[in-house]
Amino acid sequence: MRPDLLNDLFRPISVLQGVGPKIELTLSKLLLGQEASGPATLIDLMLHMPSGLVDRRRQPGIAQAPHNSIVTLKVRIDRHQPTPRHLPRVPYKVSAHDETGEITLVFFHAKQSWLERSLPVGETRYVSSRVEWFNGAPQMVHPDHMVTEEEFHALPLIEPVYPLTKGISGKVLGKAIRAALESVPDFPEWQDQAWLQRNGALSFAAALAHLHRPEDANDLDPGSAAWKRLAYDEYLASQLALGLVRQTMRVTRGKIRRFEGHIKNKILAALPFSLTGSQSETIQEIEADLASDRKMIRLVQGDVGSGKTMVALMAMAAVVESGSQAALMAPTELLARQHMRSLEPLCEAAGLSVAVLTGREKGSARTRILNQLEKGELDILIGTHAVFQSDVAFRDLGLAVVDEQHRFGVHQRLALSNKGQDSDLLVMTATPIPRTLVLTYFGDMDVSKLMEKPAGRLPIETRTVSLDRVEEVMHRVARAVAEGAKIYWVCPLVEESELIDLTSAEDRFAALQPLLGDQVGLVHGRMKAQQKDEEMRRFQTGDIRVLVSTTVIEVGVDVPDATIMVIEHAERFGLAQLHQLRGRVGRGSASSTCLLLYKTPLGEVSQARLSVMRETEDGFRIAEEDLKLRGEGDVLGIRQSGMPGFRMALAEFHGELMEAARDDARLILMKDPSLESERGKALRMLLYLFRRDETIRLLHSG
Ligand code: ADP
Ligand code: MG
Repeated sequence: MRPDLLNDLFRPISVLQGVGPKIELTLSKLLLGQEASGPATLIDLMLHMPSGLVDRRRQPGIAQAPHNSIVTLKVRIDRHQPTPRHLPRVPYKVSAHDETGEITLVFFHAKQSWLERSLPVGETRYVSSRVEWFNGAPQMVHPDHMVTEEEFHALPLIEPVYPLTKGISGKVLGKAIRAALESVPDFPEWQDQAWLQRNGALSFAAALAHLHRPEDANDLDPGSAAWKRLAYDEYLASQLALGLVRQTMRVTRGKIRRFEGHIKNKILAALPFSLTGSQSETIQEIEADLASDRKMIRLVQGDVGSGKTMVALMAMAAVVESGSQAALMAPTELLARQHMRSLEPLCEAAGLSVAVLTGREKGSARTRILNQLEKGELDILIGTHAVFQSDVAFRDLGLAVVDEQHRFGVHQRLALSNKGQDSDLLVMTATPIPRTLVLTYFGDMDVSKLMEKPAGRLPIETRTVSLDRVEEVMHRVARAVAEGAKIYWVCPLVEESELIDLTSAEDRFAALQPLLGDQVGLVHGRMKAQQKDEEMRRFQTGDIRVLVSTTVIEVGVDVPDATIMVIEHAERFGLAQLHQLRGRVGRGSASSTCLLLYKTPLGEVSQARLSVMRETEDGFRIAEEDLKLRGEGDVLGIRQSGMPGFRMALAEFHGELMEAARDDARLILMKDPSLESERGKALRMLLYLFRRDETIRLLHSG
């Protein structure tokens, strides 16, 4: 139950004067995103941060008002010159003066009656706006404010400017926000007193007031005390939410998994290679987790090609040996099937039964798998999200592995914790995530890193080539094929439209056919999964040598003897994506090349990205650069995932607060695991304010 103190702030914005149904809808989309499910509330307005300010304090007098600057003038109204009836394009003009000179106020398509009321001849008014000088005469077009002396004293002279959307004016939004500000109650303080003293001693309400009623530009600096307090509030809310999930998931499972490594040894014997040092270390860490009586929640970070799949298999092997089942979840059907293909022979060698379950398994095939699963005849289930559907019941799910999944929010974690009461959790991400972001989105999961690549890998030579030379590149590709090479050719996403995207891949496919005949294949997102698999398989076996594709191959596809990656319109891809794509080659013992074809002229950011790609293959460095170039939302693909984003906290300014917030959250939950103390109750409000409250129900269920 939401504390009553919050009721006012959680009213829909339509309770505000001047916010009707239409504005409510538009504003809700601005504040909550396009997919906003309900109307925005007053707290959502409060958390909409200004992007700058207008300073109206300057009152230089008409003659001294600098061209193109914002000033406030106290003037006497002299004369109205309405728009002539037969010349509707001529503006309505109002002349006014002060002791220094004269000014013209200019209005287009204005209502005469309204202007006569706002600017009565012979009276004094304050007008505030940008002044422009034309031919030695100053004018103001549609002044932002035209008010009486009395109204002027009520006017904020420093006005915050907000990010807007079509259909909402700054005036309407500013007014709504100032009105909402009145509804912010005095909350009991949830921050630690010592921390507050060190950081400006502003309450939540005072901090909001500072940002929405700034007194000078410093107030709107992300480093200001007010902004920092709110950023810290937000980080603390998110860390508490993660901590609460973790607390419920991390309960003692009371069961110590016992295994000696028989299955692992069988797999090792069947492997054509030995494990890397990183792989062995990570597997040891996982085995230690499994052998303890606490639930495992571990994140394995490993660059593309670092061999995460093997780590997953060894973890699953240990759990199966201890008598339970394991599930491996991939983000796409293609990847699920690829995992099946590569793991099936190893499972067979080790005596493990394994099946794949995706949306494609239907009818009796699906029923058979579900039966086997329930009876415990299946040791390992590989699949997509289908694995977590409600009718999928395991006899005893001991471990869930989530692969290539950085879009794994609190929601999904809750779903997972419902499925396997006692099951351990391993999350594997291919995008190396910078440390602050790990904390932000995964909280204090245990983290293993696969820093080392399998031995014998050669560096990938990366070259940038202008698209003007694409004919030449196609001929080089044909020559390389004649010499036995296997080549990926990736075509770009054009304006995020699948259709145009598809055309570009199809066009390239058609252009390559005369050179390569039936040695060239095509995969794209519109193909049926079965067709895609078939084409991938033909590429794997070498029936086709050049695979033209859209970005469907981006994540995780493994064809070790592919040695050339061509990326067309590389300037349209993000760094992380380029890195992922390039990682498809350089997986075998032969040296590999990546050709980045770009269209000129290159923008600054694209140019920076391409040089980073040329300079380094280090995924962690690339992720850091990516963060700089794109901002955190895109790095993690959060925008698409519906994960609660951050509204106050900006990683580039407030990132260092995150670690403190994590420690704080940990300490709080250690002392007060169900948030019952005075401070705990205040913290519950914090969770509501930043919409992290879904985790509060965990407090009651336990
Ligand atoms: P990713 O971490 O990107 O998921 P994969 O698990 O797909 O990487 O592994 C990439 C390739 O490296 C696969 O072909 C896999 O068989 C191979 N591989 C994994 N571990 C090793 C190793 N220790 N030595 C050599 N090759 C390995
Ligand atoms: Mg993988």
